[in-house]
Amino acid sequence: MVQGQYRKNDIVTVTIEDIGNDGEGIGKSDGYTLFVKDAVIGDMVEARITKCKRNYGYARVEKVVTPSSFRVEPKCRFHRQCGGCQIQPMSYARQLAYKTDKVRNNLQRIGGFPMEYLDEIMEPVVGMEEPWHYRNKAQFPVGYDKEGNLIAGFYAGRTHDIIANTDCVLGAPENQIILETVLAYMRENQVSAYRENDGTGLVRHVLIRTGYATGEILVCLVINGERLPAEERLVERLRKTVLDKKEETPADNIHGKDGRTLEHRGPEIPRRHIVSISVSLNRERTNVIMGKEIRILWGKENIQDKIGNLVFSISPLSFYQVNPAQTEKLYAIALDYAGLTGKETVWDLYCGIGTISLFMARQAKKVYGVEVIPQAVEDARQNARRNGIENAEFYVGKAEEVLPEFYAGIQKDTTERRIAAEDMSGESDQEKRHPDVIVVDPPRKGCDEKCLETMLAMRPQRIVYVSCDSATLARDLKVLCEGGYELKRGRVVDQFGQTVHVETVIMMQYQYL
Ligand code: SAH
Repeated sequence: MVQGQYRKNDIVTVTIEDIGNDGEGIGKSDGYTLFVKDAVIGDMVEARITKCKRNYGYARVEKVVTPSSFRVEPKCRFHRQCGGCQIQPMSYARQLAYKTDKVRNNLQRIGGFPMEYLDEIMEPVVGMEEPWHYRNKAQFPVGYDKEGNLIAGFYAGRTHDIIANTDCVLGAPENQIILETVLAYMRENQVSAYRENDGTGLVRHVLIRTGYATGEILVCLVINGERLPAEERLVERLRKTVLDKKEETPADNIHGKDGRTLEHRGPEIPRRHIVSISVSLNRERTNVIMGKEIRILWGKENIQDKIGNLVFSISPLSFYQVNPAQTEKLYAIALDYAGLTGKETVWDLYCGIGTISLFMARQAKKVYGVEVIPQAVEDARQNARRNGIENAEFYVGKAEEVLPEFYAGIQKDTTERRIAAEDMSGESDQEKRHPDVIVVDPPRKGCDEKCLETMLAMRPQRIVYVSCDSATLARDLKVLCEGGYELKRGRVVDQFGQTVHVETVIMMQYQYL
């Protein structure tokens, strides 16, 4: 309310009435709105003001006076410092409600879709059975603490200070043993960690990826140089590491504490084992974690994983969904929304290693995948072969460039054939490529305008939009709906428990069919 009423470091009592975009609590003190980090909706807290603006301010919890009924005991003692789990103190059921609201609000506010309409088309949120230890990929920065001790862990929220914590509650339980082994090798062989401030030192990050269905683990050290000293000792140590020493074994985790077998993982729990050890060379002074070049020190280049009954090979540089159990549910919904009968041509834009493409291929006439990272496309082609799928083709390039090229080709081809007065009943090669269904699964920034424009011009019957950012999703849906599409179905799928991130699938149909 009154500007200048509060100052930085003031302590105020606030009742939290809402949740912000980054999971923070929102409440008012004397009419002045405060965004309170680490507060849960329903809490009454004492908060310390960290920043004052004219009409609102930021604060962080000093003390919870009356805890919300949605407040739960956080599992990780670093959750407040680490930027990873923004909503760990919130009950999982409330997290799901929050995510559903977040998507709906964005669709209303940015997309212009009325709430009553969303009530009609949105189906119930798909939550996780066990919202812990689900992430199959982790990238741990390596560095030094204030005393100069070698550590690995996580960046403290919005900084590049490393918190020494190798035991993340979202990642695979074995990551801790692997990281401790890497640190022990570094200490023994005087291998330095990278120092961001002056660009000296060697080991920057450790990437660990686990195939949850196969048990295969890939370990990749990102280094600021050509090679590691005594590489063979790292390999030897890692190969000797026993991975299931911890109390909470992966089997406990996957079966749930009450012994019930969780859906989608099957009764056979493969033993976790390292199958690939590599280094990635990154000598650039940037925030990008992985270097472009990978050198294998031992084992295979890729790990394998399974989603449903498809096998995927994943190289260190390719995108792969981080939560395999939920991914399977997500793909099943996308497939259902695509409404395939076996006659359709499907374009899967932003296809990564071809996961959605191959799921669709089994029920479509033909699938074309488009992806910008060449290694991922190579993986996609191999994955098609490995699974005996012959009706999927993949193109390297940007969706906003590949799709318009094909569209121009289709138009040209049709015109030429008309001019030549050929038999119009047979389909040309280009016409066969005309999409009945387009699936898009872009990164957070959403689809490029050119891509949306071309999709509208190509006018497939249905568009399935898989999105990890509901704000850009809403923006893009608005464009597609203004171009003649209508939202028909939608569903939120939680791939990222304890965090504010959320995945949404939407199905649109062309209105004037
Ligand atoms: N559908 C896949 C991957 C989705 S992630 C899956 O479910 O696994 C988004 C993918 O889009 C990434 O693989 C990224 O490399 C790719 N990408 C990013 N920008 C792109 C663009 N302009 N054109 C095509 N692909 C792009």
